[in-house]
Amino acid sequence: FLSASQNFDFFYFVQQWPGSYCDTQQSCCYPSTGKLAANFGIHGLWPNFNDGSYPSNCDPNSPFDPSKIADLNSRMQANWPSLACPSSNGNTFWAHEWEKHGTCSESVLDQHDYFLAALNLKKQYNILEILQNAGIEANDGSYSLSSITEAISGATGYTPGVECNTDEAGNNQLYQVYLCVDTSGSNIIECPVLPSSKCSSQVQFPSF
Ligand code: 5GP
Ligand code: 5GP
Ligand code: 5GP
Repeated sequence: FLSASQNFDFFYFVQQWPGSYCDTQQSCCYPSTGKLAANFGIHGLWPNFNDGSYPSNCDPNSPFDPSKIADLNSRMQANWPSLACPSSNGNTFWAHEWEKHGTCSESVLDQHDYFLAALNLKKQYNILEILQNAGIEANDGSYSLSSITEAISGATGYTPGVECNTDEAGNNQLYQVYLCVDTSGSNIIECPVLPSSKCSSQVQFPSF
């Protein structure tokens, strides 16, 4: 049975590099709300199990309701933009993330606090700045996967998951960074299990 305690073990907090989403064969569309800064954006805050599996779509009776995060709208636009086509104001992406993932942590974070927790994590862990401080810049250069992992673990104290994808020419590139977060949604922890990386030992960091 489901008790009142949370039925997941930890969260992945996932940030995406827009340059690596947009330069793929699928390309991307800029948000209808305006130009994007060259910064990591939030992809999601995903409840997960320690064995690597994860729950999804946990509560069909809890649809996304933009009015519940009206106070967060400007922070959402700036930090959690949607780059999928066609262009959107983000509500479709946020609805997908809430309904697929957020409903599975509803026993700890309601809809407002779920999005707020992700925004606060983003503010606390500035991946672009952490990489820049280690000399790793979004300049189309090639960097060792270990230098990226070590820059982030050195700054945060915890080993991140680093995921790569491939650009149109087939180059392996830095796509997403995963931090693991405790079930309160506020403190990062050592990852119980790392996501699959798909990174080569050398990865490109494309400009955006
Ligand atoms: P992809 O197949 O593009 O890696 O992932 C597709 C979707 O599956 C993601 O957007 C996310 O919703 C979900 N997903 C993939 N891997 C994980 C994972 O390790 N944990 C969780 N919670 N969701 C995942
Ligand atoms: P996931 O299921 O992997 O958590 O989320 C991916 C879904 O969100 C896909 O259906 C994708 O089309 C949609 N989506 C909308 N905007 C974005 C975006 O900026 N990045 C990613 N990765 N997915 C987006
Ligand atoms: P979904 O089915 O979750 O919408 O998307 C499936 C996969 O395609 C995900 O990895 C998602 O991020 C990606 N995807 C969906 N729409 C777009 C798009 O417009 N541009 C890019 N680059 N990827 C997309």
